[in-house]
Amino acid sequence: MSDMGAARPSYDPQDPFAPTAVRSMLQIASPAEAGLRMGPIEKIYLIWLAGGSCDGCTVAVVAATQPPVEKLIAGLVPGLPRVELIHPGVALEAGAAFTENLAMAERGELDAPYLIVWEGSVFENDSSGEGAFYRLGQDRDGRTTSSTEWLSRLAPNAAAVVAIGSCAAWGGIPAAQGNVTGSVGVMDFLERDYRSALGVPVVNIPGCSPVGDNFMETAAGVLLFLQGMGPLPEFDELGRPVWIFGETVHRRCPRGGYYEEGIFAEAYGEKECLVELGCWGPVVQCNISERGMVNGIGGCMNIGGICIGCTMPGFPDKFAPFYAVPPGTLVSATTSRVFGGFIRRMRGVTQQDKNITGRWEGKDKPSGWARFQSRPTKSAKLVHKLYRAYQNTKIGN
Ligand code: SF4
Repeated sequence: MSDMGAARPSYDPQDPFAPTAVRSMLQIASPAEAGLRMGPIEKIYLIWLAGGSCDGCTVAVVAATQPPVEKLIAGLVPGLPRVELIHPGVALEAGAAFTENLAMAERGELDAPYLIVWEGSVFENDSSGEGAFYRLGQDRDGRTTSSTEWLSRLAPNAAAVVAIGSCAAWGGIPAAQGNVTGSVGVMDFLERDYRSALGVPVVNIPGCSPVGDNFMETAAGVLLFLQGMGPLPEFDELGRPVWIFGETVHRRCPRGGYYEEGIFAEAYGEKECLVELGCWGPVVQCNISERGMVNGIGGCMNIGGICIGCTMPGFPDKFAPFYAVPPGTLVSATTSRVFGGFIRRMRGVTQQDKNITGRWEGKDKPSGWARFQSRPTKSAKLVHKLYRAYQNTKIGN
């Protein structure tokens, strides 16, 4: 199955196109970098592999800021080991020199532990007939290998396996109805008893594409754990970081106040809650509305888009057709309209009162900006009076 035992190619570690793992062995930490190490691990290899992917997860991680990936690669994040990235899309080396990195990991020849980060669905190559989906190099006997095979070979000795994006976590779009490639998520592929060399089940960072900072923050937490500098971050029963995916989009949405007061957008471009346009935010676990997409900017409903459930295992089939109103919306939106509408009106009355200082009571507004002078109605005055009396009893207590 593997190329172990065959004659090994030799590479010059000073050749910029030699395997990353070979070149890395020559690299000596700068004094600035060495001063930031606080744990036993000086560096760690991050082996990035892909299956059925659009490369969106790579783009998302390249855009991360907390911490930025280039600081991890430069070893400049305090406490964390330097990360040696082995990525088929950004590596300087190609062909056999690239897959030599993977072979070295399999043979146990790397001079540091390795993490696997998997992007895209895992292809079931039985359905590819004579071929293979996502071929990734050859063994030295000329046999073609696939990225799926490399996952099987490298996962047992990895310090941890992280599935980035919904395709890697759950199967995602490649595993949608029809699924001609037999796509599954990493967790399904490695099966529930899988544990990494350090005893960690598969970590899932879903999203299509995921938020880059969700990945970086989780990776940093896992690296601190590997350094012995903190506990293993908390994950839920599906391997998602709890602090990221423990709440719904809706609870953190900037449009949530409109929902609560029963005010809904009727068309894209309006500022109110989007639930009647098909938003699934009330049930979807994701932090995009709070964190934004890149460096706090963007993110679905922040820029006017509905939530289509892309972080969830049921995506996409259980959220299709996108842009149709979710089934429970009639009940929840009507309830919000009735109760939220009443509360909104009551708040309006209170707001009117709080826009007047005691010195202006019974007088016209002193501002030259006031186009017309409005006085509270008798019923509003009565409500204010009762409310004030109640407030005073509280102050008195
Ligand atoms: Fe909730 Fe979606 Fe409305 Fe935001 S836009 S408040 S997530 S239903």
